Amino acid sequence: MNLPEPLPANLHLEPPPASLRLRIDRAALVGNWNALHRLSGKAAAGAAVKADAYGLGIDVVAPILCGADVREYFVAHWSEVPALLNYVEASQISVLHGVGNAQEARFAIVTGVRPVINSLRQAALWVEAGGGRCNVMVDSGINRLGLAPAELCDPIVQGLEIDILLSHLASAEEDSAQNPRQLAIFRDTVPLVKAERLSLANSAGIMLGPDYHFDLTRPGLALYGGIPHPSMQEHIAQVAFPQGAVLQIRDLHAGDAVGYNATWVADRETRVATVSVGHADGFLRQMGVDCALQHDQERLPVLGRVSMDMIMVDASSSTVKEGDFLDLPGDLPGISQRSGLSQYEILTILGKRFERS
Ligand SMILES: *Cc1c(COP(=O)(O)O)cnc(C)c1O
Repeated sequence: MNLPEPLPANLHLEPPPASLRLRIDRAALVGNWNALHRLSGKAAAGAAVKADAYGLGIDVVAPILCGADVREYFVAHWSEVPALLNYVEASQISVLHGVGNAQEARFAIVTGVRPVINSLRQAALWVEAGGGRCNVMVDSGINRLGLAPAELCDPIVQGLEIDILLSHLASAEEDSAQNPRQLAIFRDTVPLVKAERLSLANSAGIMLGPDYHFDLTRPGLALYGGIPHPSMQEHIAQVAFPQGAVLQIRDLHAGDAVGYNATWVADRETRVATVSVGHADGFLRQMGVDCALQHDQERLPVLGRVSMDMIMVDASSSTVKEGDFLDLPGDLPGISQRSGLSQYEILTILGKRFERS
């Protein structure tokens, strides 16, 4: 096999500016956390920053949250820890998946990042590795991850040095009887262990009222502009503003078709702009249905199927030119309603090709 000639050592391959942008509104992010902290009453609000801060980018989000004096950070995987350690102290980070093997336990001990212990097996791994301060998740009914309430009485759990005892709500965004049921189960577990702090509510759980706040709340979605419950609308602002560049503009005649499988056919002269975003960027095919991009006050409806790297929009009544940036939809509840995707999914699938700033 012939390998290409190596590039000259003095050539710096700094790529040109991206044709996809994700602007993070810093003031909105800080405002959302302040609102969630205030709505948490006597409790402090932490921040769920797993999945690259819900797709917004940990390197943009973490410094902003640090500046806003957020003290507790939650990630899911150990692989998410190194990036976060660039901004916050190890003792402020909890890993929700806990320790599944000896390597993870060792990494936790070496870094000083706290695992969330989710099972008796994890508790044993933690103790065997040398252990230390940790958090504990008790499953109060979501049946996902966490110790059963009765398992808290196991001697191995009794021997743990527990900072936060957590549980997680399954239906907080609904007016569901499951919420008070989980609250009651969580309350019953509290006397079973010695923990410094208690934590139950995610974003939506904060709106369930003071009974659900305990010492620490763990909002994620609402920080990033998601509205899990209509009562949050007035407190939460959009944070992520995606934009894509126009690659080409063409003029079609009646009868011309647009995109894969020719699902849209012009019934009149139509100016079409091709935009540099596609399903590989998280703009899924079902998001293209009944959807429009914006250019200042102009509305440019999506035409035909979403491709992997492009979408086409109707620019007939727009002044947009090749190279201009168009605003992609960013209203999470609206996109969710039209596409059937959850607000969580819409954020976390935002692709790597967006330049985040
Ligand atoms: C993801 C997660 C959160 C944050 O939930 P949101 O609904 O995004 O506010 C809180 N706690 C746990 C255990 C989580 O997994």
